[in-house]
Amino acid sequence: MNTAQSDWKPISGGCQCGAVRYTVHAPVELTNHCHCTMCRRMQGAIFGTWSRMKARHLTIDKGEENLTLYESSPPVRRRFCRTCGCPLFYEHEKEPGLIWITTATLDGGAHPGHPKERERHVCVESKVSWYGITDALPQNRDYTF
Ligand SMILES: [Zn+2]
Ligand SMILES: [Zn+2]
Repeated sequence: MNTAQSDWKPISGGCQCGAVRYTVHAPVELTNHCHCTMCRRMQGAIFGTWSRMKARHLTIDKGEENLTLYESSPPVRRRFCRTCGCPLFYEHEKEPGLIWITTATLDGGAHPGHPKERERHVCVESKVSWYGITDALPQNRDYTF
């Protein structure tokens, strides 16, 4: 079963210190659990979970001025809270009009609304060796747009 998009209600999220708050106004298109080295380091976790949506479906309700831009690799723009360091947003030059959020920053661990078949592991060739993926989601060796 897909997430029931008809009962969709906007969901909010934010950084750890509360300086930056945002709202997602429509179900996200897809969610990736990315095992690449950069996501591991940027999120301080063994993998980073990202959800992609149209940028116009995201509002930053508070603290936009508190976001720091980090261009990790030239076409990629990552934004994090400059007070608490929490990673929040990611944009890629090849994806105009789209934005990714760090799914785990949604309040209360909310599901971001992607259809069940649009969730997968990516960059699993970079996965830490001591963690085994035990769910049934598709696994992409690398990242493909
Ligand atoms: Zn913060
Ligand atoms: Zn990654």
